[in-house]
Amino acid sequence: MISATGVSWHYGTNPVIDAVTVTARPGRVLGLIGPNGSGKTTLLRLLYGALHSRTGQVRVDDDELSTLTPREAARRLAVVVQETGGETALTVAELVLLGRGPHLSTFQRTGRVDHEIAARALARVGGSHLAARAFTQLSGGERQRVLIARALAQQATHLLLDEPTNHLDIRYQHEILHLVRHLGTCSVVVLHDLNLAARYCDDLVLLGSGGVVAAGTTDEVLDPVLLEPVYGIGIRRLDLDGAIHLLFQPVDQTTEERIAA
Ligand code: ADP
Repeated sequence: MISATGVSWHYGTNPVIDAVTVTARPGRVLGLIGPNGSGKTTLLRLLYGALHSRTGQVRVDDDELSTLTPREAARRLAVVVQETGGETALTVAELVLLGRGPHLSTFQRTGRVDHEIAARALARVGGSHLAARAFTQLSGGERQRVLIARALAQQATHLLLDEPTNHLDIRYQHEILHLVRHLGTCSVVVLHDLNLAARYCDDLVLLGSGGVVAAGTTDEVLDPVLLEPVYGIGIRRLDLDGAIHLLFQPVDQTTEERIAA
């Protein structure tokens, strides 16, 4: 479980996250949704300790995140964010193996079991054929899957992902989120696509310009009455065969016309 209580973050004088409280529960996928600039990435970074709130606290299971050593934090929290690993000269197999780092003691080298775990992680994202390739030579979607494999190899009990479906074609968008859903970890995922959130998240936090607009189960939060004012677009919800589908109805105006108005 990850629970943030009363956490805040300001960029300069701009309060992005203001006394926000969220809980990611064990074995469930919590989605962070909201328009561009609403603070999803900032909140995620507070949850894994890349940013430190001056107010409130973040707890991972029974411990305050700030009291954990980096190694202990990395055994509990695996993070997949957009900008990681981009410049590395490593092969894919080597990069995924880095996920084993938190499980090794200071001078311990990776062993057979670590290599097996890393190979299995790469296979789970459909990336076995990439093992010998240089990471820097991969496409955006291939890189994304490799970074997820590294997080899986880390075998952390919590997984935090920032827009993991970016760059992925539609098949891998679903495969990766299906995988996350079935890992059994406590997962937090920033998602742009509300229909992916509908399908793969158990709980959602909807962020708007003022902070948290709504939090609850996916069924509760994906309510057009809550979503429309936040996104500024007409939204219709259909419940088909037990699944939620959202249809979007742009207002009949271009962005240029809206800015001019
Ligand atoms: P989201 O993930 O919802 O798009 P972010 O958390 O990335 O939102 O950003 C929230 C707000 O904080 C935006 O207004 C953004 O411009 C601002 N912001 C993000 N990172 C920085 C930064 N490093 N410096 C200044 N402002 C930032």
